[in-house]
Amino acid sequence: PGAEPGARWREQFPIVTAHPELAYLDSAATSQKPQAVLDAVQTYLTTSNANAGRGAYPWANRTTDLVEQARRRVKEFLHDPAPDRSAVHFTSGTSEGLRTVARDWLAPHLADGDEILVPFADHRANLDPWLEAARSLAGRGVAVRVRALPHQAASGDYDHRALAEVIGPRTRFVAATHVHHVYGGDMNVHRLRAAVGPDVPICLDAAQSVGHLPVRVNDPALDVDFVVFSGHKAMALPGTGAVWARNARGPVLRPAGWPGTPNTVGIVSLLAALDWLDEAGPDRIARHTAWLTTRLTDRLRRLDAYEIRGCPASLAAGSALPAAQRRHGIVTFRHRDIPSDDLGFILFGHGFMVRADSLCQAGASAEDGAVRVSLHVYNTVEEIDRLLTVLESLA
Ligand code: PMP
Repeated sequence: PGAEPGARWREQFPIVTAHPELAYLDSAATSQKPQAVLDAVQTYLTTSNANAGRGAYPWANRTTDLVEQARRRVKEFLHDPAPDRSAVHFTSGTSEGLRTVARDWLAPHLADGDEILVPFADHRANLDPWLEAARSLAGRGVAVRVRALPHQAASGDYDHRALAEVIGPRTRFVAATHVHHVYGGDMNVHRLRAAVGPDVPICLDAAQSVGHLPVRVNDPALDVDFVVFSGHKAMALPGTGAVWARNARGPVLRPAGWPGTPNTVGIVSLLAALDWLDEAGPDRIARHTAWLTTRLTDRLRRLDAYEIRGCPASLAAGSALPAAQRRHGIVTFRHRDIPSDDLGFILFGHGFMVRADSLCQAGASAEDGAVRVSLHVYNTVEEIDRLLTVLESLA
């Protein structure tokens, strides 16, 4: 029953239905696009393509309206409780969004002796910009201490017990991740907020949560100051993303007005994508992918040949995964004997498109390669069962 809405969703993705022999299991890298998004792009380009914020004619005005509409739509999508005080800045994806927050907001806010907490075991895109900000300040004689957000290798979550040791009176900023791109687990931002207190800004890398589960900033459990995400992982075109800034704690990002030509087509696609996702329902999407993910993890855990990342050995087989260990559409694993790039190749021989490398995880080396299966609305239980049959035959 959990997979039922999947069929209704799937038929709206032309690239997926055109290739029934293939299974796209790499949505954590980028999502496929529904017809509604393709239509919105086609309509825009054939009726009103122009530059935004300039031009005294209807196409230009319409383009400007669409960009502003998309900005409001991002706030609405995130359930922003105070849209008049917040800001949305469009980017090419999460990497550029995090770089923007680090360079335009964080760096000017830090003083000598301040400390920032950053994740050393998450996506590189959520580490390098913070290190870069600290380095650029050091060059100007401002020493900022970078501390690692403690992480539990066994479960993939942050180590909330060890947090107290790294938080101090000079902690000025925390960069965290919502859903981990390797482990797929929900990083419990609520406990992070409780540990740092109400006044330390938290920037959330929501690349793997927006479009997959509700990301609602009016939820006290998600009391963060910045939400950074990729539109292209959430049904919009490549080269799209956004930074949402709560604004209540001070001025936000530089780009007010029109500093250059924005990616208008991408922004139009993001507007349509957010409409599509809200219509499908983030809660329903989360249930669908959680159901498929649990099916995959539970059967994979019974096979000794596979080791699942962030799945404690004590849980490797047998009892049901506790709720805190549930995965959001991402399962990363390696085979005991088959190198991961070979396994990726073998799987493609059976029509499965997966990611197989070190997954851009900060600190990971080539030997840390693994196979990542990542799911979205268009994936089905048949695909998961077919994949399991192949994985079982290799065990
Ligand atoms: N953060 C996380 C958690 C991600 O999974 C990704 C994409 N793999 C990124 C950041 C980077 O996103 P983008 O490629 O859109 O810049």
